[in-house]
Amino acid sequence: MPKKKRKGRSPRRRPNSGRSHLKLASPSPPEAVTPGPVDLPPGVPKPLLRLEFSPQASAEDVERAIRYWNPNPEGGWAEPVSAVGVPSKVAAELLEVCEAYLPHHLCGACASPLRATSRSDAASLAGHDLQQRKNVTFTCPACRRAAEHIRAEEARVAQEQAEAADKARRAEAKAFFEQQAESATTLCRRHRRASELTAEMACVLAAMIDRSHIKPVLPPRNHIPLGWMWEEGGTDNDVLVHLLKERWIRVDSSAPDQALAFDDEDKLQGFYPTLTPFRLTSSAAQTQEDMWAILLSHSKDTRLSQLRHQIHRMEADSLFRYLDGLLQDRYQYPPVPENKVSDLYRLFFSGLEDYTFGQMVCFLWRAADTSAAWKERKQLTDAHASSATVTVLENKLDTARECKMAIPEYDLPRSHNDPPALAAGRALWSQLQERIELLEECVLHENQALPCSNCLGMLYAGGSDAEEIREHYALLGESAIELRPDLATKPQISLPAY
Ligand SMILES: [Zn+2]
Ligand SMILES: [Zn+2]
Repeated sequence: MPKKKRKGRSPRRRPNSGRSHLKLASPSPPEAVTPGPVDLPPGVPKPLLRLEFSPQASAEDVERAIRYWNPNPEGGWAEPVSAVGVPSKVAAELLEVCEAYLPHHLCGACASPLRATSRSDAASLAGHDLQQRKNVTFTCPACRRAAEHIRAEEARVAQEQAEAADKARRAEAKAFFEQQAESATTLCRRHRRASELTAEMACVLAAMIDRSHIKPVLPPRNHIPLGWMWEEGGTDNDVLVHLLKERWIRVDSSAPDQALAFDDEDKLQGFYPTLTPFRLTSSAAQTQEDMWAILLSHSKDTRLSQLRHQIHRMEADSLFRYLDGLLQDRYQYPPVPENKVSDLYRLFFSGLEDYTFGQMVCFLWRAADTSAAWKERKQLTDAHASSATVTVLENKLDTARECKMAIPEYDLPRSHNDPPALAAGRALWSQLQERIELLEECVLHENQALPCSNCLGMLYAGGSDAEEIREHYALLGESAIELRPDLATKPQISLPAY
């Protein structure tokens, strides 16, 4: 039976009352009075739930809410939901007029009691008996919203900062590339020719000149499987850094963001050479002209022997990779043991002094073959064969030298690759030999081959002597660099500017 217009007393008159209001009987005045809060189960010192009602709640709503929310002290609920209404609708209907709180389960952030929207919600927060303390800290919806708002705000600020940093970095990079392009046009080649160019730099630069004929942008080092010169990144990077410093190459403006290094203030600090695409600072022809001038200037013989040694170092590396592949892929043996590697390289270097690279390939093929046969004959392990290859190679080289045997040249297998600086270094070597053949004697000093030490002496002496040399150099015009590499690399030659 629905009870009409029965209202609870004002909460002021029953402060903190845990007792049910159902005993209230006298009709209240017509104006709406908010029913007071109700603690459940009724009459216990530590209630498990507190209900608070909206002003719209009728006495019938209050009674229904109490029946719905009243816990069974043993756990679960005093009455089944079906006794209070349609099970799928009751909780939603009561939400309109009543809020249920769990007084002993507080929000982790604001410490106010958590609100439950249904019996199952209450059980998920406080367990079947509404008394469990879960390890999880719950947060009330208001605090959750506040926390979400703070998180969103922080994310927005972080995003703004990231965008500003990005913008600053882009501006830095743009200014750098503009300044770099600007300085390329005013590049003082004379200064570059007077700088130090190691044999390593020359081989890599020669490979870059080759590459620039295909495409002006040189690929980042990590796009070249064996590197420009060395498979190990660090050594290659040192060469790149030196070439950059002496302005043989510059960073291409297509450099990706991850190739650029910025400090905390978003100022450009430098580059990761491995990831950076470069380009030649001047044309391939000018680069080659300056490089050749350095290599053919004073101390030419020292430079050429350094270049030759550098080519041998790369060839030794190539031979090592070839032998390793032979042992491991063809014979399925382990690689040459670590303690034999330096002996092996020593044999490569001495062998390359007397034999061509192709002949060395032949020696290696035969050494591996002989070791394999010896291993089978003696019933030894694979590791013995790998190790013996080094001794066998040494014997074969010694015998060949002693008996002056003719050794054929073998080609490397097609699957074998070398870094581009090896082929470029070899080509550079033969180009320089041809160029030396063509170099004429000094026209100022009889019987003086170039580089001419007399001319250098006059240049260093200064005064009218130096002036004479400068005039001679100036008269050669654009061919001066090619014809007089010894003078072209001297800072004392002030004219012309290129
Ligand atoms: Zn809260
Ligand atoms: Zn001279």
